[in-house]
Amino acid sequence: MSVIASNTVATIHYTLRGDDGEVLDTSVGGDPLSYLHGHDNIVPGLERQLTDRAVGDRLTAIVEPAEGYGERRPDGRRSIERAAFPADVQPGMQLFAEDGEGRVLPIWVRAVGEQEVEIDLDHPLAGARLHFEVEVLEVRAANAEELTHGHPHGRHGDAHHH
Ligand code: ZN
Repeated sequence: MSVIASNTVATIHYTLRGDDGEVLDTSVGGDPLSYLHGHDNIVPGLERQLTDRAVGDRLTAIVEPAEGYGERRPDGRRSIERAAFPADVQPGMQLFAEDGEGRVLPIWVRAVGEQEVEIDLDHPLAGARLHFEVEVLEVRAANAEELTHGHPHGRHGDAHHH
């Protein structure tokens, strides 16, 4: 029986809730999620708790911020001049910015004003404890191309998305 391990592609349905039970994200009712295990495709705490799970398993995985989207930084929210952004910038967008040392950082847009854009260096779910309900639908070995790319090419490995 195949179980989820490094270099397998797992296909799961999941529902993510916050501490208050509110549904933050779910694949149920849509396409399930396929990911390449062991390649940072999903948050570390969920990946760790899916290791060795088999098709048909259902589990609840509680993930603390340190193994989820990180702790929230006190200085993570900033205002930056509007001119530094693309014309179509919208609240909720994720963009990438380069810091003074040439490192590429993900940023999240919180609000767009005429002069300034409010951004957050932290993921919107930073600081949140995550409650995942997961059902394992399928597990297969990754193919060579998927291992090179570091992500799956669809549930069956035959999607040509690039
Ligand atoms: Zn690829």
